Amino acid sequence: MTLLQAKQEVLDMAVRCYKEALMAGTSGNLSVLTDDQKLVITPSSVDYSTMTVEDIMVTTLDGEILEGPHKPSSEWRMHAQIYKNLPHLRAVVHTHSPYATSFAVINQPVPVILIEMMYFLGGDVPVSDFALPGTDDVGRNAVKSLADRNACLMQNHGVLAVGETLQKAYIRAVYTEDAAKICHMAKCIGQPVLISQELQDRMLNR
Ligand code: 13P
Ligand code: ZN
Repeated sequence: MTLLQAKQEVLDMAVRCYKEALMAGTSGNLSVLTDDQKLVITPSSVDYSTMTVEDIMVTTLDGEILEGPHKPSSEWRMHAQIYKNLPHLRAVVHTHSPYATSFAVINQPVPVILIEMMYFLGGDVPVSDFALPGTDDVGRNAVKSLADRNACLMQNHGVLAVGETLQKAYIRAVYTEDAAKICHMAKCIGQPVLISQELQDRMLNR
C-alpha cells in the first residue's frame, strides 16, 4: 500500500465513522501504521465533513511531522504508545460513540451479553484508567486493557478499537457501540443475563 492509499483509507474511514455518528463534532481520531513505521493519522480539530486526503497527517512514532499542513491528532502519543507496545497492531480507531462512552463515564465495563463480543472483541469491554488527554499515559493505560482485548473504554473519555487492519479496528468500534447500546436498552427493561465464562469457553473451543 502506498502512503497516498493509506491516507485515503484513513480519510474514508474517518468520514464513515462520522456519518455513522460514532464521533460528534471533531472528536475521535484514527490512524494506521505503515510497514516503514510511519503514522498516518487524522489532523487535530478538523471538520470531518470537509476533510480531504491532503489534510491527513504523516508523522514518525515520536511525533515528528513528515507530511501534512496541520497538527496531528492531539492523541498521537496514545496511538504511538499502542503501536510501540503491541507491535502486531496496524490500526487504531478512537471514537466518542455515545452508548459506549456512557459506560466509560460510569466506569463500568460492558459485560459479555452477546455472542459477537467473544469473536470480535475478545470478551467484555474493560475500562482503562483515566489519564490526562494528549499524554503518553492515555496510551499506556489502554495498552494494559488491550493486551487481551480488541477494544476498550477510556474512563470519562471514549472508545479505543484496534486491529491488524483499519477495517477490523472499525468493525470492533461498531460492535463496542452496539453492545453498549443493547446493554443499556436491556437494563432499561430488566436485568441483562450475562454469557457465563463456561459457556464462552465451550463456544470458543468448538
Ligand atoms: P483531535 O481532534 O486532536 O484528534 O482530538 C479529538 C479527541 O477525541 C481527543 O481525545
Ligand atoms: Zn477523544
